Amino acid sequence: MQMYDLPDERGHFGPYGGVFVAETLMHALDELNEHYLRHRSDPEFMAELAWELRHYVGRPSPIYHARRWSEHFGGAQVYLKREDLNHTGAHKINNTMGQALLARRVGKPRVIAETGAGQHGVATATVAARYGLKCTVYMGSEDVKRQSPNVYRMKLLGAEVVPVESGSKTLKDALNEAMRDWVTNVADTFYIIGSVAGPHPYPMMVRDFNAVVGRECIEQMQELAGRQPDACIACVGGGSNAMGMFHPYIDVPGVRLVGVEAGGDGVATGRHAAPLSAGRPGVLHGTRTYLMQDEDGQILDTHSVSAGLDYPGVGPEHSWLKDSGRAEYVAIDDADALRAFHDLCHLEGIIPALESAHALAQAARMAPTMRPDQILLVNLSGRGDKDLNTVARLAGITI
Ligand SMILES: *Cc1c(COP(=O)(O)O)cnc(C)c1O
Repeated sequence: MQMYDLPDERGHFGPYGGVFVAETLMHALDELNEHYLRHRSDPEFMAELAWELRHYVGRPSPIYHARRWSEHFGGAQVYLKREDLNHTGAHKINNTMGQALLARRVGKPRVIAETGAGQHGVATATVAARYGLKCTVYMGSEDVKRQSPNVYRMKLLGAEVVPVESGSKTLKDALNEAMRDWVTNVADTFYIIGSVAGPHPYPMMVRDFNAVVGRECIEQMQELAGRQPDACIACVGGGSNAMGMFHPYIDVPGVRLVGVEAGGDGVATGRHAAPLSAGRPGVLHGTRTYLMQDEDGQILDTHSVSAGLDYPGVGPEHSWLKDSGRAEYVAIDDADALRAFHDLCHLEGIIPALESAHALAQAARMAPTMRPDQILLVNLSGRGDKDLNTVARLAGITI
């Protein structure tokens, strides 16, 4: 694949993506697209973003050669891209920083966001505080109960958290509610979506803001190992950390791109969150993409030990990369993700996010089948402090 420049100007990645929204939202999305395209080619905006990423977020994040873990496999060398070392502990701030700067540039004093586990809500509340923007975060009332530390974090940062009582009271309902707010308040409000999902231009814009990860990887691998990895591996919820890492590698020959979905109790059980592995295309939240749905097109419930991977859809660019064969997608069960979580703690002194542990488990599966002179690069998308309660509960421990 050469000179990959998707999406087209209507936001299509092959048959995926697009803008499936009501007329009332169409204008807001057109305006956003125009604003974004103008700023993307504005050197002053891009310089400001680069400065903030360096001095506030702490970029570039390092790449670390996990030697002890690699020796444990006796196969390929595993390198970790340390997005867990960013301010707020994950890759999500790469995107919220970009969108908040854009909101400020186009004169919108208020930002809104949806959140499931609360990570995107925290990353949005953080940049809103940094720039003095008013911030409202929509969160399903079930998630508000399950993720109380993140709810308190958002409040400390000055955000208003609105519990959503409709539907299943989780992420997809929060997203619907945020869309409703945006339609009503579009004159002064910027909607910061948290992954490469939703209608155009979000999948493109969120990918671009996260692509700093892949660009750094290309430079850092050259410096550290004198070459690029044999495969890049990243977990896929909505798909932003994976897309950010994969995008700059799409035109680099010889590098496999491996996306890892949440297999939950096992894909065969039906209790999972793996639309690319076991779903089919349909339309959800304004975009056409692979979805978990039943025969009648009803969206199915998701299951995963990791709240951040619990989404029944996926960014449309991943659907295209899957069909085109440029990327491969696999599923990792809860049990294997937990094993990789504990191994990284013991052997490297790094507590990974449960989301990232899915990518680590895929590396653990591939490394023993490879030669010691081969390289796997894993996107360690976040740190695991937020997951301590979940992991302890599974081990029957109260902390
Ligand atoms: C939110 C989150 C994810 C999943 O989101 P993507 O858009 O698929 O990247 C993965 N890892 C961490 C640490 C997260 O917080």
